Amino acid sequence: MNVTPFWLAGRPATGDDELTVTHPYDGRVVGAAAVPTPAQVEEAVAAAAAVRAEAAALPLHVRAEALAHVSRRLAERSEEIARLITGENGKPLMWARTEVARAVSTFRFAAEETRRWSGAAQRLDTDPAAAGRMAYIARVPRGPVLGITPFNFPLNLAAHKVAPAIAVGAPIVVKPAPATPLSALLLGELLAETELPAGMFSVLPLPNDRAGGLVDDPRLPVVSFTGSVPVGWSIRDRVPRKHVTLELGGNGAAVVLPDADLDWAASRIALFSNYQAGQSCIAVQRVYVDRSVRDVFLPKLVDAVKGLVTGDPWDDATQVGPLVSEDAARRVESWVNEAVAAGARVLAGGTREGAAYAPTVLADVPADAKVARDEVFGPVLLVQPVDGVDEAFRLVNDSKFGLQAGVFTRNVDIAFRAFRELEVGGVVIGDVPSYRADQMPYGGVKDSGVGREGLRSAMIDYTEEKIMVLTGL
Ligand code: NAD
Repeated sequence: MNVTPFWLAGRPATGDDELTVTHPYDGRVVGAAAVPTPAQVEEAVAAAAAVRAEAAALPLHVRAEALAHVSRRLAERSEEIARLITGENGKPLMWARTEVARAVSTFRFAAEETRRWSGAAQRLDTDPAAAGRMAYIARVPRGPVLGITPFNFPLNLAAHKVAPAIAVGAPIVVKPAPATPLSALLLGELLAETELPAGMFSVLPLPNDRAGGLVDDPRLPVVSFTGSVPVGWSIRDRVPRKHVTLELGGNGAAVVLPDADLDWAASRIALFSNYQAGQSCIAVQRVYVDRSVRDVFLPKLVDAVKGLVTGDPWDDATQVGPLVSEDAARRVESWVNEAVAAGARVLAGGTREGAAYAPTVLADVPADAKVARDEVFGPVLLVQPVDGVDEAFRLVNDSKFGLQAGVFTRNVDIAFRAFRELEVGGVVIGDVPSYRADQMPYGGVKDSGVGREGLRSAMIDYTEEKIMVLTGL
């Protein structure tokens, strides 16, 4: 079998072990990634630390050109890369192609932000004691970045770590999810084609139990983590003196109000509770529909969910494929069964076949059921009628998570009220909480995380202000 090398300070390398990559739909082996030895991990981190000053001094045009190159190459190889993602992750080709297109944009946006990256001058003579003085202010990298990524967007979430690091001139070590290392390794291949200094990037596929050493290493003072809630917060607790950003889980809610376009709302909610088999941190999990339109809306929603094309992820028409593993599908099944035993009604789906779980709609779910309180991370949607905006917003906020929320309304007053009152990082008006444009700030509150991604936001996170005072002006 072909073992894909990992990237050690800009060059391909093999270790003494490998991670086998299997395709979730049929369990067949689709590849393997070389795993670095402890000595090679040490070499990668030492190289990142050694190149720190050189990276920070790289001219903006060199960084921007490297980012633009990766964007172009992703576009040129897009179909091949989409197939790589479908192979390792199991998401339907339709969504894998979307992910590659987004990664093309992520790198392009980063190149554009790099060209705008600048310092500022502040006159200090607003105070007589500072007459003749001025401060020059620039953002400088906090240091090499450790980027830890999950399995569900194996390419674009790695892109969201790598691109802003390069943009600000910070070396980066990427640790991809063990189930899906191949797309991040492909990114390493494209970075190796650029003029960036060799030590500036490494991609190290490591099993979970070997990632802790990288987290602890003081030579990687920034940790940018995307993944599950318990792992994320345990990292922040473990290294309180590091700059840690966390993009964690959610249980996304959508509110459907009487003035909404109900056909649009039904089709969007149906699709985005099930895209990637619900394995997105901003998938719709909860729907609160105003009671006055429930009887019109609900049949439209259930029809839309039943109309989704499920099955083979390699089929161009498939909208919903398998979960990442049969274990993951069994967990979703047990959560749904638990809710049903407690009184929930199944309006669609509720069945499992191997790693595939049917798009499912539940009503009358008890508030304390796992499917209501936790992150399902599967194709399951809960519908609940509400009496007006007050109750809807109260229920949206009745969650330990706070990533994004969607409100289907055309009323601008309610839109601003949602913005003020909903305890989330992002409010989407007229669409699902699952909407994300890669150039906008993105992240959560409460258990869902801390810090923001989106190219400019991550560039600010990876840097801190440094000033120089000029005297005698
Ligand atoms: P996970 O937490 O199991 O793994 C994420 C990464 O952390 C992997 O690379 C894994 O190897 C690594 N890891 C695991 N244990 C570690 C440890 N002790 N120390 C350091 N690293 C460790 O998550 P997952 O199952 O791959 O991804 C699913 C989760 O990611 C969901 O909760 C989802 O909501 C979340 N997610 C969040 C966002 C967001 O932007 N907010 C985006 C995508 C996914």
